[in-house]
Amino acid sequence: MENFRRDIAKLYLVMVVSGLTLILTFYLFGFRPLVDRLHEEHEEEIVHYLDGGLWLLQGMLDKHYDLARQSASRTAIRNRQIAYLDGKVSKEELVAFSAPKLSDALGANREAVGISRFDPGGNLLFSVGVALPEHIVNECNLRELDEIRMLGRRQVGNEEYLVYCSNIADKGERKVGADILVMDDVGIEKIVESTLDEQGCYAIVKDGEIIYWPHGGHNVITVDVLETYLDSGEVDEAHIVKSRYVEGHNWQLYAVVNRDRFFADIDRQLLILIGILLVVLLVVILLSVIALRPIIRTLLREKELFELSHQDGLTGLFNHAYMQTLLDNELERARRFERPLSVLLFDLDHFKQVNDNYGHQAGDKVLRHVGEVILSEIRQIDLAARYGGEEFMVILPETDAEGAQVLAERLRCAISQKTVSTSAGEVHVTISVGVATCNSCYEKHDVIEVADNALYTSKANGRNQVTRFTLEAV
Ligand code: GH3
Ligand code: MG
Ligand code: MG
Repeated sequence: MENFRRDIAKLYLVMVVSGLTLILTFYLFGFRPLVDRLHEEHEEEIVHYLDGGLWLLQGMLDKHYDLARQSASRTAIRNRQIAYLDGKVSKEELVAFSAPKLSDALGANREAVGISRFDPGGNLLFSVGVALPEHIVNECNLRELDEIRMLGRRQVGNEEYLVYCSNIADKGERKVGADILVMDDVGIEKIVESTLDEQGCYAIVKDGEIIYWPHGGHNVITVDVLETYLDSGEVDEAHIVKSRYVEGHNWQLYAVVNRDRFFADIDRQLLILIGILLVVLLVVILLSVIALRPIIRTLLREKELFELSHQDGLTGLFNHAYMQTLLDNELERARRFERPLSVLLFDLDHFKQVNDNYGHQAGDKVLRHVGEVILSEIRQIDLAARYGGEEFMVILPETDAEGAQVLAERLRCAISQKTVSTSAGEVHVTISVGVATCNSCYEKHDVIEVADNALYTSKANGRNQVTRFTLEAV
């Protein structure tokens, strides 16, 4: 019965392990590669995100350059400047003519906040809007300047501006002056501040230095990641860094993305899927258990009934009736395959006295104890039964006389060496054993009779001993 219950537990265990193996297989060979693929595809979005930002930034810088070019090359002002250089007009006339026009240009473009004009020697002629301190002007190196050059981001007062230095030349390529255009960079800041739903952000790098970066929130970490990347070329596991050059400028636009937040949707979906699978598995197991329960219960009951009808209630060994059947079967097998077979029959010595001295309860306990000793001493294929009141039989298939003798002695010693503690005191019992061994083709009746005779001989010879008879071939 215990074995049967263990088998049922195994069945449930196999169901659970199979289910879990199925999920693990799905996960390792289905979901995981799929998720990796989805991650790869999703990572492509960073490139699109970067391209989007690059497009905006490129447009903005191109606009700045156009504006710098336009303001430097306005023909009327330039001609007036040539006239001034040729001594045809005074500086006051030049300023009076040019300054309002450049002021208008500033008014027409919200981002342009200042224009300063210089003569070819780099001396300031006039300026409109924000004027730059001398050290920034010197940076432009106006005398050597021969094209438009972006100086970069410069601090003027409390503000930061983008400064463009432009050369002014006449049609014969003669240098006639220079312009410095000061641009508000709020548009560029806006691009950098536009984060990817908190999953990542932009930063602009010039010559290995981060010149624009978003402020606040998760981005503090992101800027740290980028700094480390620029220093060492390495990115930690939690982030992805991608970059693009801004065409025609010495700038790079970087996108730094937090992996966990960026892939959160995909990973959540995977978790949901695995969760659903686990729930489905649980439901399947539950339904199987519900379906199997009545079947198992019936089988258990049948098994219990079977055992009850074949078992001795006191010792749990087989009963007399079933022993007859078992012995028939084993004799048949021994006959057919011409194998040896031995039968032990033993009887407790002076058991009546045990009952008389310690009571029947104690006597029963001794019988149970003897049953346990038998089961612990015999092999799996041996069959033990309570043959009668205090008589026991053990069938030993495939066992010759010597083997049977060894077991009989072992049993006798095991029983006689141990006392049984009962409520009425320690009880010591011995057994007398009769062994019948037949090497082939004997009748059950003969085998039992020979074993009985051997047992009787053990009793007659003084008890607590083993007598062995071998059946002669018929
Ligand atoms: P010996 O076999 O050594 O000749 O002496 P004995 O005292 O054992 O003699 P006998 O075999 O005649 O007595 C058997 C006793 O076993 C009689 C009965 O009181 C006792 N007996 C038989 N079945 C049970 C049982 O189920 N429980 C108890 N407590 N005693 C039993
Ligand atoms: Mg007896
Ligand atoms: Mg007896």
